[in-house]
Amino acid sequence: MNKPSAKGWCPSTLIPMKSGDGLLIRIKPPFSRLTSRQAQKIAILSERYGNGFLDITNRANLQIRGLSQNTYPLMLKGLQDIGISGKNDVPDRINLVLCPFIPYQSIGWRCAKMLYDAAGDFPNLPVKFGFAIDCGRKRYLSGISADIRIERDNSNKLLIRFDGCKKGFVSSEKTFKSDILEALNWFSSSQNKKLPYERMHQLLMNIDVPDIYAKTKPQENKKSLNPGFEEDRQVISIPFGQLKANQLLQLADNSQEIIFTINRCLIIDKIPKLSGEFIKTKNDLRYNVTACTGMPGCASASIDTKRLALKLSESELIQFGKSYHLSGCKKGCALQTKSDICIVGENGSYNLLENGFAWDEPKHASLSEVALFNKLV
Ligand code: SF4
Repeated sequence: MNKPSAKGWCPSTLIPMKSGDGLLIRIKPPFSRLTSRQAQKIAILSERYGNGFLDITNRANLQIRGLSQNTYPLMLKGLQDIGISGKNDVPDRINLVLCPFIPYQSIGWRCAKMLYDAAGDFPNLPVKFGFAIDCGRKRYLSGISADIRIERDNSNKLLIRFDGCKKGFVSSEKTFKSDILEALNWFSSSQNKKLPYERMHQLLMNIDVPDIYAKTKPQENKKSLNPGFEEDRQVISIPFGQLKANQLLQLADNSQEIIFTINRCLIIDKIPKLSGEFIKTKNDLRYNVTACTGMPGCASASIDTKRLALKLSESELIQFGKSYHLSGCKKGCALQTKSDICIVGENGSYNLLENGFAWDEPKHASLSEVALFNKLV
């Protein structure tokens, strides 16, 4: 089955989206991090003007839910006061994921700054088009969705690589901005005018990359990120991607900054007495379960994915080493990769499939909750 097409736009702080539980806005934390003060303020604003629920998206963004037409302007003003939302949408136009432990003012940081500064000069890009800055000593982002990857080659040179192509081209800090603009203009001018490609890899399935853009391989040194201790920091995850305002406050009170990163993880200072609401190790079975917003937050959902995720996690049916994706409909927003077990809502009942995407043909359809649990035993 084909993947359902995406909406032609994404919410931002300046453009709220109507959802099942009110208006929703999306914050793209600059350099993927919030200071403790910014996080405290967002938690307070979310309680005061929203419904106190925040989502962590698979691109390391933060969504505030449950706003109304009356409270949205107050929320926006509060975010602008702490430098989280600007007066125009230029910073919101760029989808940027940074490697998790990127040091302040490192080359990756400086590349991110150049991308933010150049965003106003970009050609018109599809809404999901994004960059992964992965030029540290190890590559953490090879599995995440991105269109242009900024990496290193085996001799430590800066590399720009198109997603879907095994090789990239060597760049330098001096030429980085012009190289990126050239790459984006190539993507734009190579488009199918009648049915434009939304992602770089889709374009590359249909046309060859010019040799000048595909000469050099990236470094092989890959690493994954999971909850635990790493680089003298604590990596945690939030069960089913949904954070409550009081949990954000707890983190903000105990960590100087909060870094939003891949796998719906957060990087914080070491907190000795962090509550069990958070996932602190990859052995926590809740870490295997991904759930989209579901009912009542999403108007397209016909099942309550978060409730089901909690019930499943407590039922001991979750098997270690298997991935579970609970999706309120076949759009599969929460996970763009295959899962070992995929449970998809349809007309209030459950479809079940193995080793696939939410939009694939189910192996079992229209199951009741009891029948679903019996199939999972
Ligand atoms: S996958 Fe989930 S969040 Fe996405 S549209 Fe469907 S129900 Fe809503």
